[in-house]
Formats: sequence, C-alpha cells, structure tokens
Amino acid sequence: MSELQFDDVTVRYGVGRAAMTAVDRVSLVVPDGEIVGVVGESGSGKSTLARAAVGLVPLHAGRILLDGAPIPRRGPRQLQMVFQDPYSSLDPRMTIGSSISEVMPSGMTRRARAAETARLLELVHLDPDKADAYPARFSGGQRQRVAIARALAGRPRVLIADEITSALDVLIQGTILNLIRELQAELGLSMLFISHNLAVVRYVASRVAVMHDGRIVEEGTTADVLGDPQDEYTRELLSAIPRPIQYTP
Ligand code: ADP
Ligand code: MG
Repeated sequence: MSELQFDDVTVRYGVGRAAMTAVDRVSLVVPDGEIVGVVGESGSGKSTLARAAVGLVPLHAGRILLDGAPIPRRGPRQLQMVFQDPYSSLDPRMTIGSSISEVMPSGMTRRARAAETARLLELVHLDPDKADAYPARFSGGQRQRVAIARALAGRPRVLIADEITSALDVLIQGTILNLIRELQAELGLSMLFISHNLAVVRYVASRVAVMHDGRIVEEGTTADVLGDPQDEYTRELLSAIPRPIQYTP
C-alpha cells in the first residue's frame, strides 16, 4: 500500500470566538504496510484526524501526504474509511454485494465485479453466496466484515478505521481484530487504526500515537510506548486497562 503522513496538521471547528481547535499541530506517519494505532479518550480529536485524512473536514493548517505527495481529491478515492456503527454504515436497501461492488473502480464488467465481490467476501470470511442478501440478515460483526470488504473494494492506498470494534460485543471484537491482523499480514495493509481502547490498539498496531486534547503526546513502537510510557497521560490510560487481555477467535 502506501505511506500516509500528517504534517503539522491543525483542524478547527467554528469561526471567530466560537472556534475550537480539535487537532492541534499533529505530525504522524503511517508507514507503508504498518498499522498505526491512535488512542485517546473521547473528545481528544481522533475522529477529526480521520475526517481530515479523507477530506471530510478542511485543514486549518498543515498538509496530509500520500507517499510524499498531496492526496488527489478527484478520481478514485485513495483512502477508504471504516466507521464505528455497522448498522448505519451499510445501505439497508442494497444487497451487500451491490454495496461492495459499488466502490470498485469504474470500467469493470459485471462478471469481474461479481468475481471480485466473491473474492472479497471470502477474504473477510463471509460466505460468497450471501452477496445477494440484505444487511438486515447480518449480525453486527458480520456487517463490520462487509464494511471492511467494501473499503478494500475501493483499492485504497491506506485504510482508516475509526472505532470499528467499539459497537461490538467483546468476543466479536476479538474476531474482527484477528481479521485485521490477518489482512495486514496477507495484504500488507497501511492502516490508521483509531480506538479509545488501548487494549484493542495494542493488539493490532505496530506503532501507537497517544492523543490528548488534540495533540499527540507520545508516539512510537507499541512495545516502547506501552512498555515504557514517557508521558503521564499514557500511564493513566495504561493503568485503566485490565491485563493481560486475551482474545480468542
Ligand atoms: P474523538 O474522536 O477523539 O472522540 P473528535 O474528533 O470527535 O474526538 O472531537 C474532538 C473535539 O472536537 C471535541 O471537543 C468535539 O466536541 C469537537 N467536535 C467534533 N466534531 C465537531 C463538529 N462537527 N463541530 C464542532 N465541534 C466538533
Ligand atoms: Mg471519535
């Protein structure tokens, strides 16, 4: 995939006196083929960072680069996002197959789209014969698998995942996290993986950035940041999680 770079990015909401800075001079690199976790409590600016990356909110300052170049806003989407709520992220009136093939590059034949849809459903461990079923037939965890297949269908250079397991039961969370690890190893995903839950981030990310009040207070390899946290806020987050955490598929 590709390298995603936030270079001194600031995002503000509102104007004048009512303006607030949600992301404050953030610099962060998601190296090619790595999962970088962003962790922090609610309101720390994680989703705003994600929205900035996919162009849903404008930058007040700074740049966001893909492989060192500005992200083209026209043509195929370079970044695909998976959201928290699997119940609102899929159109209930579309079969999951249509939802997935909708995102594929234009110019593919019907047959090629069907084959690609089947391949993607298998990749996320769903039955390819279910392509004609509607989302209502699927559980939350299965819908999140569909959402991941859909994001991959767009052949993104980087994936952004914003709290993708937060709405799921703990056991289902574990299966989705295992899928993410598997896809990372298989496809070499570059991914910005956002969660308020440090245990979840620790499980999938090779690097971690800790966000607090719109700023990154600490960043490094997961082993370094969580094994020997330098920032007081990181230590607080760490002490709040039970350990050891084990997920079983
Ligand atoms: P997180 O995802 O870490 O919970 P967000 O990026 O959603 O944090 O929010 C960061 C800050 O920006 C919060 O103070 C939040 O209230 C504020 N915020 C988020 N979205 C908007 C918006 N559309 N308009 C105004 N303020 C917003
Ligand atoms: Mg959020």
